[in-house]
Amino acid sequence: MLNRWLKVRRSRAKIIVLCFVVAVIVLHGTFNPVNPGYSADENQNHHSDAHSKRVESRRLLEEAQNDAAQGDNNDNKSYAEFDIAKILIDEEEGEKEKPDPNKPYSLGPKISDWDQQRSEWLKTNPDFPNFIGPNKPRVLLVTGSSPKPCENPVGDHYLLKSIKNKIDYCRLHGIDIFYNMALLDAEMAGFWAKLPLIRKLLLSHPEIEFLWWMDSDAMFTDMAYELPWERYKDFNMVMHGWNEMVYNDKNWIGLNTGSFLLRNCQWSLDLLDAWAPMGPKGKVREEAGKILTRELKDRPVFEADDQSAIVYLLVKERAKWGEKVYLENAYYLHGYWGILVDRYEEMIENYHPGLGDHRWPLVTHFVGCKPCGKFGDYSVERCLRQMDRAFNFGDNQILQMYGFTHKSLASRRVKRVRNETANPLEVKDELGLLHPSFKAVKVSPSS
Ligand code: UDP
Ligand code: MN
Repeated sequence: MLNRWLKVRRSRAKIIVLCFVVAVIVLHGTFNPVNPGYSADENQNHHSDAHSKRVESRRLLEEAQNDAAQGDNNDNKSYAEFDIAKILIDEEEGEKEKPDPNKPYSLGPKISDWDQQRSEWLKTNPDFPNFIGPNKPRVLLVTGSSPKPCENPVGDHYLLKSIKNKIDYCRLHGIDIFYNMALLDAEMAGFWAKLPLIRKLLLSHPEIEFLWWMDSDAMFTDMAYELPWERYKDFNMVMHGWNEMVYNDKNWIGLNTGSFLLRNCQWSLDLLDAWAPMGPKGKVREEAGKILTRELKDRPVFEADDQSAIVYLLVKERAKWGEKVYLENAYYLHGYWGILVDRYEEMIENYHPGLGDHRWPLVTHFVGCKPCGKFGDYSVERCLRQMDRAFNFGDNQILQMYGFTHKSLASRRVKRVRNETANPLEVKDELGLLHPSFKAVKVSPSS
């Protein structure tokens, strides 16, 4: 009903605009009194000018009418009904060069002196220090999603919520952010896409000390928790996990690759090279999946994934890599959603942000939910409902700074939690997140 009314209103408005355009054109073309100051010749020219203008205005008028007619008849104005496949044509993969099956896969040209290259760059570019404070490395948070829209548009809505959540955390903690939607290497589609991307970013940004990969289905649920950077000073990779589960049990879920830190150094480039060979899609990935399922504990039968591959690498070559890998479990660098989301109310009741662990988890990761894909391992309703709760739980810590909160963890609506004041600068936000110390930047006094 409203729609039809709006439509009538719109076409009426269109007719009025059209009439106005016609009137202006016609008046402009005809109302051209002979200027008494002109010579006969000039007047003659003027008249032929007026004639050509009239012709032109008729043409403009026809174009305008054409446009209007097309708008009414051919173009669908309803976004709800539009089929996006019309625009996002699935480009065929045919023209692409096929990789040589006899050549082992490589992420790029071998680099062996990155530490030296990087340290020289840092020396000659003192305006881009890799540490932005004592024990505060410059960090780039990297995340991303497929170049294609989600199977269900609602998936894209959750991607938006998830990146909004990450932007909030990163702004508060002085972390740069990179969102990738390009498949840089067709061989490494899906969960392997992060490898070529990470390498590219490390090499392009020597100023970055740590790169923080975070899955699109992971959200920050503790906006106040700053990572214990000091703890990692002698390590190059930090993942959530347990030494025993990885090295003793060879369990494929002994660590998680949905949220991890990687230092920008030669060691990390070497690790990426050692990690990548199981990634190329097709036969290589399929066959590698069989090895991983055979060698790792409780792993289901499926193609090789980046997580199992790094567990396998660490188990096989512990002496080579283990020393520089920190498996963190003192707080949730990654937290499995299944054990956290039903406890948010209890956490609110008993604890406060800034703890990062089971009392107030830093990250809630929706492993297996696949909100952007066709099928996940869990019920869609449960996943989306719980993703909303995680988002609102994190978002409350942002809204609180400005005197608002979600009506409940299930609600997108917000309510005021304090009155407006004429002295806004005297308001103290409870968590001190408006101007947190970990965000402060020391500026040397200008001379
Ligand atoms: N991803 C990507 N491009 C793609 C597909 C996936 O960047 O084409 C990223 C995305 O951030 C996603 C992550 O890879 O979150 C890993 O996949 P997913 O989270 O679905 O795996 P799970 O955590 O459920 O094992
Ligand atoms: Mn994930």
